[in-house]
Formats: sequence, structure tokens, C-alpha cells
Amino acid sequence: MMQSKGYVSKIETFATADGPGIRTVVFLAGCTLRCLYCHNPDMWTTQGASEYTVEQLMSRLRKMKPYFKNGGGVSFCGGEPLSQSDFLIQMLKACKDEGIHTVLDTAGVGNPDAFEEVLSYTDLILLDIKGVDEENYYRLTQRKASTATKFLETAIAMSKPMWLRHVVVPNINDSIEHIEKLYELIKDIPRVERVELLPYHTLGNTKYEKMNEPYPLEGVKALEKDVVQKLQSHLDLLRLSA
Ligand code: SF4
Repeated sequence: MMQSKGYVSKIETFATADGPGIRTVVFLAGCTLRCLYCHNPDMWTTQGASEYTVEQLMSRLRKMKPYFKNGGGVSFCGGEPLSQSDFLIQMLKACKDEGIHTVLDTAGVGNPDAFEEVLSYTDLILLDIKGVDEENYYRLTQRKASTATKFLETAIAMSKPMWLRHVVVPNINDSIEHIEKLYELIKDIPRVERVELLPYHTLGNTKYEKMNEPYPLEGVKALEKDVVQKLQSHLDLLRLSA
């Protein structure tokens, strides 16, 4: 395969939230969803992103190798990393060739023909579940059916370990009823190591102003900690008692 170029919005080092251990996180530009709560609208397109060859990016990642402690490594997120699947495959493969642990942080939206190859070089998937049914998915992402189901099916068929994530937004999906629907959706997925509810926050709002884009959740306050804790406990209990 010819080496392709990739578009990187930013690179974060010493990250601890995007997978196990200490990690370097590569934010690949581009995403076709328009999640109401997106705090990275500046990564929807490749505009303003930096162009890298596989070797250029690998030389940056290689330098961080001594710090990949406690199961750490490289995480690819975005935007939606699957939107640059050729480059992603080459980067994941290059990491694996050098013994680097790989995480794919994704909503499962991209070219389905690439899923199997992407996942063959992925050690752990962080899958963002956007909605519990078609209507709910559309309400949150402003997009109709995506390839997310196909991605999940491929991950299950390949027996990949997963951490599932779900963003909880006040007055949209912060009810016990919604969390029970989420549980029904995920309960039979094998190799789920964690399920995390992430509270909606407002940290990305100012980016919309700069981009002259209307912020879809204008006026909605960040989800309170005790609400997300209560919902998380309910979900954990359902999983434990299964
Ligand atoms: S998938 Fe991520 S980057 Fe894309 S719109 Fe949703 S939150 Fe934003």
C-alpha cells in the first residue's frame, strides 16, 4: 500500500483518560456527525490541521515510547479517526510493528470496508455509543443511520476488548429510563471492560463563536456530578446483577 498522508488536528502527550496507562493521543481531523454536544467542532474538517506522513508522525510518537508506562501507548481519536481510514491503518500497523499498544477512540463512523483491517491492529476500542435507537441517535448526532452498528458487529466478530462511553445531556438523555435502554443495547456485547457515562460539559462552546457557528445546546448547563453518579450507579447495578 502506498503511504498516505494524514491530517492531525493536535497531539496530546501524557494523557491518562483515553485508554490505559500514560498515552499520547493523536486527534485525526474530520467527522461527518454533528453531535449536539461536540466540543471539538474545529476538528470536523481538515481545515487548519497539520499534514503528516506515517514516518513523520511515527518519529514523534517513538520519542514518547519511554513514557508509555502501565499499559500505555498511543490513542487515535478525533474528530472521527475512521474518517481517515487509510492513514489510520498505516499508523496502527506501524505502532504494532514497534510494539506500541494501540487504542481507537471512535463513534464507529467511516468506510465499513476498512473496519476489519483497522481493528486487526487495534488493541482496545473506546466506543462512543451515541444513541439508544434511531430516533435518539438522530437527535444527538443530527445525522441519520451511520455505520456504527456495522462497526460494532465487526468488533464483536473479532472479539475485541472495548470500553463503552455515552455522553449524558441534561433533559435529553439523563433519565433512568434512557440508561435502562442503553443497558438493553449493550448487555450482550462480549468483552466490555468498562462502561462510562460522561457528563455533558460546556468547555467547547467558545469554539463555536470563533467559527461563527450556532451552538446547538446554547443555555444548557453542564450535567451535575451527582446526576451522572446516580445514573452510573444504576447502570453498574444492572450490569452486576445480570
Ligand atoms: S463524533 Fe465526536 S467529533 Fe464528531 S461531531 Fe460527535 S462529538 Fe464531535
